[in-house]
Amino acid sequence: MADRTRFGPAGVPPAFAIMKPKLQDVPGLLRQEGLDAFEYEAIYWGGKPQMKREDAEKLGLKARESDVWLSMHGSYFINFCGEKATIEASKKRLIACATAAEWMGAHVVVFHPGFYGKKPRELALGRCVEVLKEVTATMKSMGIVNTKIGPETTGKASQLGSLDEVLQICEKVEHVQLVIDWAHLHARDMGRLRTVADFRTVLEKIEDRLGSEVMRNMHCHFTKIEYTDKGERRHHTLEEERYGPDFAMLARVIVDFKLRPVIISESPLLDLDAVRMRDLLRSLG
Ligand SMILES: [Zn+2]
Repeated sequence: MADRTRFGPAGVPPAFAIMKPKLQDVPGLLRQEGLDAFEYEAIYWGGKPQMKREDAEKLGLKARESDVWLSMHGSYFINFCGEKATIEASKKRLIACATAAEWMGAHVVVFHPGFYGKKPRELALGRCVEVLKEVTATMKSMGIVNTKIGPETTGKASQLGSLDEVLQICEKVEHVQLVIDWAHLHARDMGRLRTVADFRTVLEKIEDRLGSEVMRNMHCHFTKIEYTDKGERRHHTLEEERYGPDFAMLARVIVDFKLRPVIISESPLLDLDAVRMRDLLRSLG
């Protein structure tokens, strides 16, 4: 649980490239920008950790020295609602991510649970919950005790991951961290986040189902988003007025509900928009 609201980018900001930093240098560079979170992107990983243990541990050490909160975005190649072979491969991938996340001291491995395919939604969710119980049991037996898995609200109608489904996973599986991607919620539900009251409604639902501690300690993704009737299309920068949701509204409820979420910027401007969100929240006192 974070000690305060923290902000950081999803992945290494493109502007850092000119400095050719080692991975372990990234937390220090973020700290120089006044940021205090970093989501490592393991989004193309397969069934084995694709980094050396030594490098993961160095990243973790430097992150702690710089007081930067680490998380990991797990592999995109995960589908816990598919056929047996797909599910088995997905388990390996999520566990590979969790293994490296534990090495670096990342608090959560964020992942997209899967696609409904032809399955009825209830059945897909039920299967997903059962498999995730197996994953967390395996993690425990491997000594992965600090890193949690974090099912994320997803942006497409074809993907498992509505707010209600993610809440159900959190209710039924242990060692899970709630991950709210606000842009995805907005896109999936055709622009549901238009007013401060819309944000409050989501938070009240979370509090009602999972309690105030979970609500206060969400792991969040935030960016503006373009969507179609099928859901998310493209992420946009905070500056682009024609897209939602509006971070000022989330900032309002963070203050009102005394939340301390970790907020990861997935905007094309990664760190710059993270700084912008931080400043906006600060301006509310
Ligand atoms: Zn994601």
